Amino acid sequence: MGTENSNHANFPQRPAAPFAAASQSTSSFLSSGPVFGSEASAFAATPAGAPQATRTLLSSGPAVGSEASGFRPIQPGRSNDPSTTPPPWSYVPTPLGASQRLPAPQFFSTAQVPPPHTSPLGQPVFSQPIRTPTGHVSSPPVSLYPQQQIPTVPMGSPPQSMNHVPSGRIVSPSSLDSSFSAPRPTFQPLQSGFPGYPSKQPTAVTQPPSMQSAPFVTHQGGYGPPRPSTSGPFLAHQGGYVPPPPVAAPQAVYSREQMQHQASGPPVGSVQGLTEDFSSLSLASIPGSLDPGLDSKALPRPLDGDIEQKSFAEAYPLNCNSRYLRLTTTAIPTSQSLVSRWHLPLGAVVCPLAEAPDGEEVPVVNFATTGIIRCRRCRTYVNPYVVFTDGGRKWRCNICALLNDVPGDYFAHLDASGRRIDLNERPELTKGSVEFIAPAEYMVRPPMPPLYFFLIDVSISAVRSGMLEVVAQTIKSCLDRLPGFPRTQIGFITFDSTIHFYNIKSSLTQPQMMVVSDLDDIFVPLPDDLLVNLSESRSVVDALLDSLPSIFQDNLNVESAFGPALKAAFMVMSQLGGKLLIFQNTLPSLGVGRLRLRGDDLRVYGTDKEHALRIPEDPFYKQMAADCSKCQIAVNIYAFSDKYTDIASIGTLAKYTGGQVYYYPSFHSTIHQEKLSHELARDLTRETAWEAVMRIRCGKGVRFTSYHGNFMLRSTDLLALPAVDCDKAYAAQLSLEETLLTTQTVYFQVALLYTSSSGERRIRVHTAAAPVAADLGEMYHQADTGAIISLFSRLAIEKTLSYKLEEARSSIQHRIVKALREYRNLYAVQHRLGGRMIYPESLKFLLLYGLSLCKSVPLRGGYADAQLDDRCAAGYTMMALPVKRLLKLLYPSLVRVDEYLVKDISQSHDFNFSRLPLTAESLDSRGLYVYDDGFRFVVWFGRTLSPEIAVNLLGKDFATDFLRVTLSEHGSEMSRKLMGILKKFRETDPSYYQLPHLVRQGEQPREGFFLLANLVEDQVGGMSGYLDWVMQIHRQVQQNA
Ligand SMILES: [Zn+2]
Repeated sequence: MGTENSNHANFPQRPAAPFAAASQSTSSFLSSGPVFGSEASAFAATPAGAPQATRTLLSSGPAVGSEASGFRPIQPGRSNDPSTTPPPWSYVPTPLGASQRLPAPQFFSTAQVPPPHTSPLGQPVFSQPIRTPTGHVSSPPVSLYPQQQIPTVPMGSPPQSMNHVPSGRIVSPSSLDSSFSAPRPTFQPLQSGFPGYPSKQPTAVTQPPSMQSAPFVTHQGGYGPPRPSTSGPFLAHQGGYVPPPPVAAPQAVYSREQMQHQASGPPVGSVQGLTEDFSSLSLASIPGSLDPGLDSKALPRPLDGDIEQKSFAEAYPLNCNSRYLRLTTTAIPTSQSLVSRWHLPLGAVVCPLAEAPDGEEVPVVNFATTGIIRCRRCRTYVNPYVVFTDGGRKWRCNICALLNDVPGDYFAHLDASGRRIDLNERPELTKGSVEFIAPAEYMVRPPMPPLYFFLIDVSISAVRSGMLEVVAQTIKSCLDRLPGFPRTQIGFITFDSTIHFYNIKSSLTQPQMMVVSDLDDIFVPLPDDLLVNLSESRSVVDALLDSLPSIFQDNLNVESAFGPALKAAFMVMSQLGGKLLIFQNTLPSLGVGRLRLRGDDLRVYGTDKEHALRIPEDPFYKQMAADCSKCQIAVNIYAFSDKYTDIASIGTLAKYTGGQVYYYPSFHSTIHQEKLSHELARDLTRETAWEAVMRIRCGKGVRFTSYHGNFMLRSTDLLALPAVDCDKAYAAQLSLEETLLTTQTVYFQVALLYTSSSGERRIRVHTAAAPVAADLGEMYHQADTGAIISLFSRLAIEKTLSYKLEEARSSIQHRIVKALREYRNLYAVQHRLGGRMIYPESLKFLLLYGLSLCKSVPLRGGYADAQLDDRCAAGYTMMALPVKRLLKLLYPSLVRVDEYLVKDISQSHDFNFSRLPLTAESLDSRGLYVYDDGFRFVVWFGRTLSPEIAVNLLGKDFATDFLRVTLSEHGSEMSRKLMGILKKFRETDPSYYQLPHLVRQGEQPREGFFLLANLVEDQVGGMSGYLDWVMQIHRQVQQNA
């Protein structure tokens, strides 16, 4: 967030304050009133006399340090009885003197705090696992025949429960969130900036003030000159209008004479994108009948993964890479009527910090004293599409067309073709992605240090599952790799029925623990010593992490004062912000924010009340999320329970703070240790952008109207992102503001203003252009299925928060049908396609991905087809996934590996496995298969697989119940090769760790749960198979066609 310039001019048609306005961007800080200095002394404190217990972590001997006198030694292995009996150690009221410097509580007004519960310590809540009820709700069979009216045939009857919901399910961690629809802004502010990423960028180059007379400035600084941007023609027109490409002769099987693109303005070379033809499938011409000739093998499948059209990128080489920004169609409709006939989502998916391969890092630019060059009206950042005129003294904004002056320091002469002569030294004028170093006016406070705060459940289940130990070890192993050394800050709180604070100030030799048991009036003891500089307190932090598991090893406490502990963590962090990592094992049972078992009333399912189970019941969580967002705190949730834990409520914290939900149901360290370690380590060590805001600007006539993902909207179009990283993507829907666009090209600019871990304020800017099309066919032909499915999935998941699952699925089906019908109307009659199903090549996988989406965990079946927490966790996760990862989750890879395992070792480096269709027909009982959805592996052993292979892979465990077998490397060559394959698969995307689940053919319910239910092409649990789905859609398309 930044102050954005104060001298922005008003955008004529959009009156309100541009986003840059200090009043908006600074409000979060100001309103929360944090102190910016290092003296974060404003922590809420206990009212005088509140009980406060303290103890050191040392079991013997007084703690070192002046505070020692106030602490009692810890009894190792205390037993923490949830009942009203006080814990074994006694609480020592803090002497007034010790707490007098703590100001009075100021963060929560009583109005925000739910009324105190009647019994101070609460009653133990016996959480019941929510298991699949045995009674099925019968539902009418789903007709495969089209309904009379609109195509909302449910895809499959809801609750046909699959009888395989084993208890040991592991579902990918998740974080789902939904977004809010932006209120319709009446104007579109503009600008934003964001600082960049230290670790990967090439040395920043300070742009020299250009001397007017120096046509050829030698490069200075470390920035390598951009590759001569190939296309001369483009550079010549930096900015402005680019001539439309020649119209290519269609190569389609069917003529495409009407595929005009007069309105599109891609530069020469974009021809290929226009020449693709539509495809067709021969289906029955009579509704209800199946063409006997239709071979399901002929149906299109994305077995090569997400292949993006290259033509667009080639046509617009100055655009940012599609890893940062993908439009659902790269032909922007020129009119409202086209928009209404498009039927699919119109918008973009943005992943502002996507990881770039080596050599493609985003260049960093430092304008130093020149100041960042931006349009004075709309605040667009200078980019490759602006046009320099008037001998180089003016530049025209590509977004709003205003003619701006070129500051003297930035002046360069133009050559004969109108190019700036210093173009090759100006990455901001030649690259679609660039990062600016932001000067002081983009700050409302000194850049914050990276800050990691851990809130850890230490109740009995957290300890017994091994979670506490794995978490402590993993954090310790990552301390050297946390970003931001030597500024990084760290702190810890643990909780069961009480809250435990840890004094880890650097002058101590051992950490000291302070226990607070008054949950109704939370205060923070010693606020200055709970959050410390990691490098200064490193030895104390190490000691704490080493001792945490043993301190609580005998803890019998079954309660969770999660809400009060969360408030305490918030108080400690609120001055600075940062990342709050929550490890939660037990349903919150005490104090504010306590939750109750929900979802055990089967009568609710399938009714209009069901959706309420998927949203938080207690407003406490949303309020806390809003408070966290304001204070630049991003929350990541790690949930581990084997019982219902109300992910719907707890996940809200991640949803509105730009965070993530990781879910490890029935966690046990013997099984899940590696997965948790890997994912936590990535969370801790990946480069992170702090205290960020993001805005997407676009050209006149279009506007983003809703945003979908994990964030909070700070104004109509400003996304507040307390922390962002490469694993987060956001989607937005686009609308036309005018009935007819008058331009030939629409420009988009994503700006992310953030603080880098190294403490620099930066603005990452991605710019892209797309042609305007007056032809509906062109829109379809330039469609991007990956982006469409990303938006679809977010919209559908959001819909499940207000409607039945079935309605969310129907809406997807409905829109697909309408889109294909519209497309059919364009071509079918003219080409006498009769009963054939036709669709544009660009959308050939849309049907299959749409089906997969309807079968994905957040949307599938009825109540029995996924447990409530699984559904919610998967929903939170999918809301944040970048496009490629989402597509892999929806249509995972399935490969056969046994042939490779027995092959001669000399050829063993050949990893070219061909992916198989996701249907049981792909499985040969003599084979060994690996299923990989990016979150987990399933290794399937065919019934007649050679016993030699099984023995080689599993040793003596080969005949054991697979529930108890974990895959590890045995001495054999085959075992080594299989582990090598899995490692290779993991390397393709390290964002999550795929834990292998072994499954034997025919072994239920394990096989059904882990594999069969995920073979999306098959009919499972009452939901259509791929072929049936295609037939259904086809019939509906033909209705009223
Ligand atoms: Zn402008």
